[in-house]
Amino acid sequence: MVATRKSTRHGAEGESTRSTKNQAPANSKVAPTRQSKRKAVQETAQKRESESAATSKSRKRVKKELPSYLQKAYQAENGPNHSVQLLNLPKEVFDGIASWLGPDSLTCLSLTCKEILSFVGTESWLECRSRRQAWEKSLHPTMGPLYSLLPLLARDAPHLVHCITCAALHPPLKPPREHRKTKLTNTCFGPFASIDYTPIASGEHGGYTLVWEHILEARKSLLPDTRDKPGPLIELLGGSFTIPRERLTHTLNSSGRQIGKYLVLKQDHVFRGTNPRAPLRVADIINLKIRLCPHQTTSTQKPEPGRYTKSRLPGGLLCHYIAAAAPLALRAGMPAPSMFCAPTPSEKKQMESIVPGVDGLWTCRACPTKWHVQYDGHGAGEFKITAWQSFGDTAYRAQEYWKMLVRREMSNLSADKRNSEFFLTNKQYLDFGIDE
Ligand SMILES: [Zn+2]
Ligand SMILES: [Zn+2]
Repeated sequence: MVATRKSTRHGAEGESTRSTKNQAPANSKVAPTRQSKRKAVQETAQKRESESAATSKSRKRVKKELPSYLQKAYQAENGPNHSVQLLNLPKEVFDGIASWLGPDSLTCLSLTCKEILSFVGTESWLECRSRRQAWEKSLHPTMGPLYSLLPLLARDAPHLVHCITCAALHPPLKPPREHRKTKLTNTCFGPFASIDYTPIASGEHGGYTLVWEHILEARKSLLPDTRDKPGPLIELLGGSFTIPRERLTHTLNSSGRQIGKYLVLKQDHVFRGTNPRAPLRVADIINLKIRLCPHQTTSTQKPEPGRYTKSRLPGGLLCHYIAAAAPLALRAGMPAPSMFCAPTPSEKKQMESIVPGVDGLWTCRACPTKWHVQYDGHGAGEFKITAWQSFGDTAYRAQEYWKMLVRREMSNLSADKRNSEFFLTNKQYLDFGIDE
């Protein structure tokens, strides 16, 4: 009895040292990139078994008479790990294999089951935990054990993607109609990397938040040829939601397509009165503080007091055009012109060009945004503001225009870094067509 045990053990040990020497170094190189460690270890075990039938025969007997060095007696026969070959190896072999694994692979091995966790412990977790490790060892940040662990874990989590910026596994990026700005996305995309001024970009009513990756993705569907008629709608950029308000409903329909050479996003704001006895007034729309681009808003709020914001007032162009579209009787409650900054000569010229009863197309001087305002007096009244934004024709221009279209307003930002209704500068951009 004792002799059998000894001889088996020796046989196994002899085999294992050989196979460890032959297999493990190769595995430890290949495994982090291509092959699961666990699998590799199991393969090693299988090879070992097939190499000598005699050993396996005697091992069977060993398994029957005494539990493996790893398994507890009561689990040996009945536990779910009973048939796992790795757990039937002698302890020395198992330890030998584990000693070849890096912290990332050892962490993965420890996560396979409680039993293996009790053998290998959680020490490797600590090594993988912090990015600090990489700095201390003066490694490139993408070379620490945490960074090699994440792709290994991602293989068992196909619903998540590996984000290098956050050093985490994330849910994948959702289309603008479902994407929401959170604290986490601030790390991921940066605090100024999303266009989030479309109304109520959160809550149960839906929203629309665009990030740069959406534009990159949408640009892939652009065609090089320039046809006169607008291209098909780009599914990714589509979205529609309605927010019920006190006296009206606010619906936003978004769509994106190629027009000429340009990628153009169209956003339709429809404000529909809900009470036929009290028709919708201009003031109802203005109070909603809507925003078409970083610069065109109906908000009359003053900027946060600070070094750069002294005597700054928002631009009043959008309010002016909404009022101009409505009949005189509905214009009561308009904010006084003193609430806004004085228009520039070019804006003044544009404002004077309004012809009553004709829909004008207005442009922002600080970003590639165009819009028009329509009023329909049926029922309780309806205002429709349609805005088009261009993301340019080339990847370079897309990036330039993106910067113009992202709102940047923060107390610690210098004036030249800001981009909002308080900080408008004339920007050059190529004229683009619209689909109406
Ligand atoms: Zn991230
Ligand atoms: Zn603008």
